[in-house]
Amino acid sequence: MLHWWRQWRAKRFIARHPFPQQAWQEVRSRLPLIKALDDETAKRLGLRAWRLLHKKRLSIPDGHNVDLPTRLGLFAQASLLTLNWSDADAEDAFANVHEILLLPDVFRRRASSMDDAGVIHEYPDERIGETWYQGPVVLSLADVIASGSYSGVNVIIHEFAHKLDMGNSLDADGFPPLPADMSASTWHRVFTAVWDDLQGHLARGETPPIDDYAASDPGECFAVCCEYFFTAPQILARAYPELYDLLEHYFRQSPLIRLTSNGQAGHSGEVDQTRERSGGFGSGHF
Ligand SMILES: [Zn+2]
Repeated sequence: MLHWWRQWRAKRFIARHPFPQQAWQEVRSRLPLIKALDDETAKRLGLRAWRLLHKKRLSIPDGHNVDLPTRLGLFAQASLLTLNWSDADAEDAFANVHEILLLPDVFRRRASSMDDAGVIHEYPDERIGETWYQGPVVLSLADVIASGSYSGVNVIIHEFAHKLDMGNSLDADGFPPLPADMSASTWHRVFTAVWDDLQGHLARGETPPIDDYAASDPGECFAVCCEYFFTAPQILARAYPELYDLLEHYFRQSPLIRLTSNGQAGHSGEVDQTRERSGGFGSGHF
């Protein structure tokens, strides 16, 4: 019954809002992450993105003209996360996203952190995105426009991963709702091993194999690993193969196969380190 109703609703939606083929072709030609999808998968993603675009409020900064391919590309990158989940699960996953607020560029927040002596330090903190449980996903428009390549950095995937994480708790704690065929203890064990490895690298003064922002708190660890999973899967699979496999199971897709079958395996593995870092431990989310 519910399945029938969903199909009827999907048909009615597309009758009222014909799919923008030309804009979608533009998205596919602009964004390597989307270009890597085969035609059938891309069509499915495009429809998901188009529905999301109508369902969620997108606030655009005054004086900025954000064209349809950019808006559609934003929702397409968010929809990559739920691409191989059922329509119902994909809809539920972002039920807690009500608004996407675009700011022109990097923005500043006041942040604070406590040092070893227990003293609270306040400082301005630059961010390209942030997500709160009850509130919009905030994204820097300049960084949205720059997103979509195999760079290892993707603010859209990062912030929407936080929203997935918040599906079962008020905070992003690196522990999203899991499908019935996944074990919570395995999730915990694999992520804890990665976390310990990251902390070990930092304690020894070494550069970790993925961005050390992942070591700032468990929620950031999950979000940063999602960025790598979709946009630098070869680095994640090499550094943490068990984690890569876990995310492959969770997301029901293999970006590494997409990457290699599209002849981009020669990507050096270098990642743009353009991420704006949040200085505070667990102080909000970038
Ligand atoms: Zn974050």
